[in-house]
Amino acid sequence: MSNPRARSRGLRDDKFHEECGVVAVYGHPEASKLAYLGLYALQHRGQESAGICTSDGHTVYCRKSMGHVADIFTKPVLAELLGDKAIGHTRYSTAGDTALANAQPFAVNCNKGSVAVAHNGNITNAAELRRDLERTGSIFQSNSDTETVLHLVARSSERTLAGALRDALLQLEGAFSLVFLAQDRMIVARDPNGFRPLAIGEMEISGGRKCYVAASETCAFDLISATYVNDVEPGEMVIVGPEGVTRERFAPAQPRAQCVFEHVYFARPDSMVFGRSVQESRENLGRLLAHENPVPADIVVPVPDSGVAAALGYASESGIPFRHALIRNHYVGRTFIEPSQAIRDFGVKLKLNPVRSLLQGKSVILVDDSIVRGTTSRKIVRMVRQAGAREVHLRISCPPTISPCFYGVDTPTKGELIASSHTVEEIRRFVEADTLGYLSVGSLRKAVGDDQRHEYCYACYTGDYPTELINIEELMAGRKRG
Ligand code: AMP
Repeated sequence: MSNPRARSRGLRDDKFHEECGVVAVYGHPEASKLAYLGLYALQHRGQESAGICTSDGHTVYCRKSMGHVADIFTKPVLAELLGDKAIGHTRYSTAGDTALANAQPFAVNCNKGSVAVAHNGNITNAAELRRDLERTGSIFQSNSDTETVLHLVARSSERTLAGALRDALLQLEGAFSLVFLAQDRMIVARDPNGFRPLAIGEMEISGGRKCYVAASETCAFDLISATYVNDVEPGEMVIVGPEGVTRERFAPAQPRAQCVFEHVYFARPDSMVFGRSVQESRENLGRLLAHENPVPADIVVPVPDSGVAAALGYASESGIPFRHALIRNHYVGRTFIEPSQAIRDFGVKLKLNPVRSLLQGKSVILVDDSIVRGTTSRKIVRMVRQAGAREVHLRISCPPTISPCFYGVDTPTKGELIASSHTVEEIRRFVEADTLGYLSVGSLRKAVGDDQRHEYCYACYTGDYPTELINIEELMAGRKRG
């Protein structure tokens, strides 16, 4: 069945783009609860489904369901997830039907024992791998690229799970931060370019023993009082088992291509991502935006929550007062992911309400993190004007989004990205702002400390993809590949 949400966004069910959060826990008597808390902190990375698998050394237990983490994992459900090891996943897919079949982790019994896997990213050669596997008899239960990994593991002639994983990972292209659970171990790995984040943490438990954790973002560690140790290196596999912790490279080093959009929008500001503070990056973005796109105005207003940190930076650089003149209702999901166009239109009003007393007669600098299609921005600009603003100057804390992401961020097809076919002046007219200013790629690099290092992926702003993409035309058009 096709997905109405994907349809409304012009996406197809066969696209494999997923925004997700992953966690892993090793060596804690309440592993399922820790995984639950970790996922709770990562809820912003995906609200469609969530799952946890645990192991008590013999059996792998699994529970996954559609919906939010706190609704799925009630006390009785967590009590059934036995063992001191766990992995968890929270998912929002732009693709695939929303069926439970695509929810993660995926767990199987195979010749390597009981194995479960959860994935953040997008394997760009998944369709090709799957075609080959199906040709030789593999049967798939979902249309998720992650299931492919398990088939490759099962088919490997390596005897150990770590060996089979190494085999499997070497066949993958694209973006993957993966967490695996076996009966007696947890293994986590990151693709050789390091597109998506994956951090390692630890905590001391009774008797001086150590518990190891991994998560997409360090905000997951804060909630469980774990200490952030470092990131899984690109091309690295971290194996935690009864023998201790082993870190090894499964692939030769590649140029890093860390996703800059994690810092622009996706990650929580209280997280460390790729070893740097997201809040700090966003304030830098705002400061540089003010520097590049100054305009005389009375107040700087963020589009909450995504524009808050950049607006703070803008206000401090420009000396124009910061005002919370749009109030967000936190009990509504992100409008971006509402199920139909009709609800999405309504959603902006549901989500945001202007503070008229702050906006009345004012010239306003409105700061948001990005424009995708432009429809949300237009509604917000209208809303601010209707609330009495004299002028609305829209400032965006990243460059124009001109190309889709194939490495795990939810973006629509190229044709639907307004900046892929319109100039800044045309976009300004569409969103009905008095002026519109974006950040340059150079300043974006600077804001994340990458101007000298070249360790980030900017493909959505440049169209320059850091890996070879098979079937790029099909990917661009969102056409069926399989
Ligand atoms: P649009 O109306 O399509 O231009 O949507 C722009 C809004 O979507 C901005 O306020 C962004 O904060 C938000 N946004 C941008 N990219 C994403 C994404 N990948 N997932 C969810 N929300 C996003």
